[in-house]
Amino acid sequence: MSTPLDVLNKQFGFSEFRFHQQKIIESVLAKKDTAVLMPTGGGKSLCYQIPALLFDGLTIVISPLIALMKDQVDGLRLNGVAASFLNSTLSVNEQAQVMNDIRNQQIKILYIAPEKIFINEQQFLNFLKPLNISLFAIDEAHCISQWGHDFRPEYLQLAVLKKHFPEVPIIALTATADELTRKDILEKLKLQSPKIFISSFNRENIHYYIEPKRNWLPYLLNYLKEHKEDSGIIYCLSRASTESLADDLMEYGFSAKPYHAGLEKQQRDLHQDLFIKDKVKIIVATIAFGLGIDKSNVRYVFHVDLPKNIESYYQETGRAGRDGIKSDAILFYGRGDLVKLKKFCEIENNPAQSKIMLEKLNKMARLCETQTCRRKFMMNYFGEEYPDYCGSCDVCLSKYEKFDGTIIAQKALSAVARLDQRYGVNFVIDFLRGSKSEKIMDWQMQLKTYGVGADTGKEEWRQYLNDLIVMGYLHQEEGQYPVLKLTEKSRAVLKGEEKVTFVKTITRKEVEQKELPYEVELFSLLKILRNRLAEEARVPSYIIFSDTTLLELATYLPQDFSELTKISGFGEIKLQRYGKMFLDEVVDFCKKNKLPSRIMNKFPKRQRKTRSPRTSERSDTKLESFELFRSGKSITEIATLRNLSASTIENHLAHYIESGEIEIDELVTPEKIEQIEKAIQLHGDLSLGVLKNELGEDVSYGEIRAVISFIKLNGSK
Ligand code: ADP
Ligand code: ZN
Repeated sequence: MSTPLDVLNKQFGFSEFRFHQQKIIESVLAKKDTAVLMPTGGGKSLCYQIPALLFDGLTIVISPLIALMKDQVDGLRLNGVAASFLNSTLSVNEQAQVMNDIRNQQIKILYIAPEKIFINEQQFLNFLKPLNISLFAIDEAHCISQWGHDFRPEYLQLAVLKKHFPEVPIIALTATADELTRKDILEKLKLQSPKIFISSFNRENIHYYIEPKRNWLPYLLNYLKEHKEDSGIIYCLSRASTESLADDLMEYGFSAKPYHAGLEKQQRDLHQDLFIKDKVKIIVATIAFGLGIDKSNVRYVFHVDLPKNIESYYQETGRAGRDGIKSDAILFYGRGDLVKLKKFCEIENNPAQSKIMLEKLNKMARLCETQTCRRKFMMNYFGEEYPDYCGSCDVCLSKYEKFDGTIIAQKALSAVARLDQRYGVNFVIDFLRGSKSEKIMDWQMQLKTYGVGADTGKEEWRQYLNDLIVMGYLHQEEGQYPVLKLTEKSRAVLKGEEKVTFVKTITRKEVEQKELPYEVELFSLLKILRNRLAEEARVPSYIIFSDTTLLELATYLPQDFSELTKISGFGEIKLQRYGKMFLDEVVDFCKKNKLPSRIMNKFPKRQRKTRSPRTSERSDTKLESFELFRSGKSITEIATLRNLSASTIENHLAHYIESGEIEIDELVTPEKIEQIEKAIQLHGDLSLGVLKNELGEDVSYGEIRAVISFIKLNGSK
């Protein structure tokens, strides 16, 4: 009898399950209806593919993404899985052939699109009835809901499944679902007391940078020059700008193509295909690009223009790094874009909808203007808790200097007060700087605060006002007229009872680009080999092997077959089919360069963590907290000393638990450890918010994080 882990090792060549996968697979194998919310790249496919291989009968996967089906099936076949698909791209003859294979039980996993294949429900049922079906997997399950962003009416016919096949379990999977959509999915599919698994939506390997839009082009060119080997997407707002930017980039010698809905279909498909097959490195696109793209090695996503809301930003940046390797999301932000986009928010004859759109846009702008961790801001927006510090966004990576800005704040707040709290940011700045603009009326020019901020630049004032908003000393109204108002906190500052501290960015720390030292030249050689094989097999290259696999080869330099099996991605079939070719390439390279195998460095995870590559990435600020902790200071003392919150300090220290340098019981009492472990077992969840809710006031976020780090290092007790 095979276990899920055997299948993972042998058929897919991976050594361990990711956080929720095992529990999800166990739930499905116990024939329970199961709902899975996991971000893109989280590893949803294995959640139904592995049960499919362990069940006797056929697994039917329903997916709306016709364009992806062939790739998915090709990928499975390369791992020796008997898979096939049925959709309208097949000829009648081809469809008949697939049907035949199914009847002869030669297929374990069948992908179908609920589109034209079945004209009506009855036909769909007639097709399914005679089959020995073990499992239904509904991919992109949010398509069944009108509340989701991608409603597909044909998904509604899936409601018949539970009625006619009450004994067959259903697994529903999606990467996007708010509360409303989630409920809708469960209801519409009529899932029976489903087990629900919600993963954190944090994409840890994506690093977020938001840069000023001034001088964006030199920044972009410089970045592209340093990442010539990598694939990436550059999003622009308009069709025209995608074309002109792609042209410019080609002139600068980059391999780039445009993509937007206005291009001929043939050309669009060609550009997409070139990109997927790694023959073109950069695609310059409108947001029309990306749906139904499964390319796992997108290393960066640029936004030259501001996205309309945080949902879009998250989805578009989420196309980077599906293979789990570090990737960058870089956005250029300027206030001009905000003004431009506001026009798009107005939806004719629908003031309610317009208002929502405008609020979402303002939130997006706030994300760009915030001086707090970008990741935290985003996670909070999606209803998840997150500590103050992520260590991989531009804010966290910058070094700041604090200074007393009480006088600056007093000037700004009294200007707002004198102007009767009736004006927005721009007017207040003009007023403070003593502008001669006609907008400012005579009586206003007579006020004492008029011109008191003339010594400070416009942009600087904008930053100060924004900081005051973020810190809660000012409130900006939502809606069409974002007027500035005073708050409870303003009064104390105006009366001189409270000091205000601003922060100024001084430097950006350079992050280390690669986690592990690898042989750069060998990596390129392996890519060439992979691309050749992909061409022969007529599949995208990442279907042969992901970048992760090639990177491991170029890092650990396996010298024989037994070492090769330790590399992630080499299942039994791929080992037979491609093992020798890749091994030869590595061995050859090592001979020429006199390099030994480094496979010993690829410890099982538990031991590897102790010498985590993070050590090098670990920032000074964490180290500072750690050293204070080692010198005997308590968390509260360190927090006071460093002028940081206790939860930030706890978060710093959690990293040292993961590396084994702090023992868990130095930070958390045994009773609490037990309590937290229980909650984690119950919810099986990385979402700190859910756990905190469950555990209540007594347990802090930092304590939960510490226990999670501890479990990562040691496994559950
Ligand atoms: P999703 O459908 O959630 O976007 P996928 O199922 O396509 O994600 O998985 C994303 C990538 O992660 C794929 O390349 C897949 O092979 C890889 N992957 C999934 N699970 C594991 C695992 N347990 N170990 C290593 N790689 C994995
Ligand atoms: Zn951050």
